Amino acid sequence: MLKIENLHASVAGKEILKGLSLELQAGQVHALMGPNGAGKSTLGNILAGREGYEVTAGSVTFDGKDLLGLEPEERAAAGVFLAFQYPVEIPGVNNTYFLRTALNAQRKARGEEELDSMSFLKLVREKLAVLHLKDELLHRAVNEGFSGGEKKRNEIFQLALLEPRLAILDETDSGLDIDALKTVADGVNALRSADRGFLVITHYQRLLDYIKPDVVHVLADGRIVESGGPELALQLEEHGYQWISDRIIPEK
Ligand code: ADP
Ligand code: MG
Ligand code: MG
Repeated sequence: MLKIENLHASVAGKEILKGLSLELQAGQVHALMGPNGAGKSTLGNILAGREGYEVTAGSVTFDGKDLLGLEPEERAAAGVFLAFQYPVEIPGVNNTYFLRTALNAQRKARGEEELDSMSFLKLVREKLAVLHLKDELLHRAVNEGFSGGEKKRNEIFQLALLEPRLAILDETDSGLDIDALKTVADGVNALRSADRGFLVITHYQRLLDYIKPDVVHVLADGRIVESGGPELALQLEEHGYQWISDRIIPEK
């Protein structure tokens, strides 16, 4: 589903990604780990099409299409979802309205009919049930005054509603509290399916106590330096990232 080959990218003239390759199949959950500053968020932002990143070499295909050639809205319509590491607050904008607008924008870009409020509310109730969530966050302004856990619940709810084919979750290096962590994990586990892939970016192993990834990658110095099963995350936890750094072959 997602194929990244030899990706090189710079931010503000500095090369951050230095030949990153990764392949993710539909139905899989991949964890991307790595030390601070390795380029994890940079990769997420490039996949989502955020501004400010210059791809200098390599390719990214999504379902065989050139992902990097698509506008951010086209990527969203194609089914790529990036959860924000720091969700924005939008005071005064009702969350239900926001979610419906986001969903309808996506439907429109796909040439599908927009949902009226009745159909939307029906969908909302279905998704709330799947995630065992209450509707309390829907009546508030987008993320305004939300706790860390509430922001995460909202983000997972947004994911459930938009039904992406590829969900990229960038979990902050500063760490989530245990409630937020479980919210993310429960959401990912409830939304795992044969035609959906997840790329879970995380600095810490502990998230992977709750989400069992199919593949774990370690990103260091702009490249994937090691890939393996869930045991790789445990080895990292035990030995620390220095263990990985010691194994990096310097660039020629
Ligand atoms: P990670 O998510 O793995 O901690 P990032 O992708 O956030 O790493 O950052 C990788 C490197 O790119 C860091 O050295 C960081 O300082 C740099 N960087 C990221 N975004 C910018 C930016 N907008 N301007 C300048 N440097 C940036
Ligand atoms: Mg960081
Ligand atoms: Mg980051």
